[in-house]
Amino acid sequence: MPRQRVLSGMRPTGALHLGHYHGALKNWVRLQSSYDCFFFVADWHALTTHYQHREGLEQSVYDMVVDWLAAGVDPEQATLFIQSRMPEHAELFTLLAMSTPSSWLERMPSYKDMVAENRELATYGFLGYPLLQAADILIYKAGFVPVGEDQAPHVEVTREVARRFNHLYAPLLPEPQALLTETSRLPGLDGRKMSKTYGNAIAMRDAPEVVADKVRRMPTDPQRVRRQDPGDPTQCPVWALHQVYADSDTRAWIDAGCRSAGIGCLDCKQPLIDAIQREQAPWRERADELLADPKKVHWIVEVGTERARAVARKTLKEVRVAMGLAY
Ligand code: SF4
Repeated sequence: MPRQRVLSGMRPTGALHLGHYHGALKNWVRLQSSYDCFFFVADWHALTTHYQHREGLEQSVYDMVVDWLAAGVDPEQATLFIQSRMPEHAELFTLLAMSTPSSWLERMPSYKDMVAENRELATYGFLGYPLLQAADILIYKAGFVPVGEDQAPHVEVTREVARRFNHLYAPLLPEPQALLTETSRLPGLDGRKMSKTYGNAIAMRDAPEVVADKVRRMPTDPQRVRRQDPGDPTQCPVWALHQVYADSDTRAWIDAGCRSAGIGCLDCKQPLIDAIQREQAPWRERADELLADPKKVHWIVEVGTERARAVARKTLKEVRVAMGLAY
């Protein structure tokens, strides 16, 4: 039986951090053996919000793909490609736009808020972004889209777009389902969401000494001023990272040691440093090999793009026929 198709994209943000790994990539690696996975670099999506920032885009794209591969995304199992290399997405986007009520896009949660906050986002491209996403998904007839809860409305609009197309023309585009999977939202070094913008991230390829330095400088429970002061782990961003990295014995040791001042904060941070460095070691090894052979990365993307194109073209052909455009 053919495997169900999963589609997921990531904006090219350059080198990825541990938040990207635990929030998405780890899941991709898990999914690729059970589903026919299509993973793409969403560079057009990046331009919907950062259209003035073209410098460094190419570098960001390839740095990110290197991190995907380093994390264990396997181009033999999954299809990796770049959105802007696929004009087929743009054609389907245009065709779907004809019958999509603009109110569906205007009512997307966050659209109005984001435009009110930043007038530079009052563009046609940003408004149309969920429809472009729908085209990205529907062109591959993906059965599933892995999402966090906040993105579920985007899958919903894709389903509505598909329903409308199927009703108006022909039952061609399957409605995808949101695949709610177990991911961890990794907090950053200061307890807020891990983000390059906040300067609180550990990159997937940070050198071991950089990781150690970043973790040692992390703020801790503000009440624990001196070594002999007891602390409360729930008030500490280090503890939040231990939730992802430490086993239950280590967590019990920290909880008791922190509350009784039996351990110091540097003692507490060491197992975290060790765990992150252990996790990174195979990534670094794979990334070093790829960085020494950049043509290989380009080739992987090339092969994936052509594989994706064959599927996209087939769907477009059907869509053109259904819409009376096969001349
Ligand atoms: Fe945070 Fe650990 Fe220090 Fe407690 S011992 S305040 S959990 S770093």
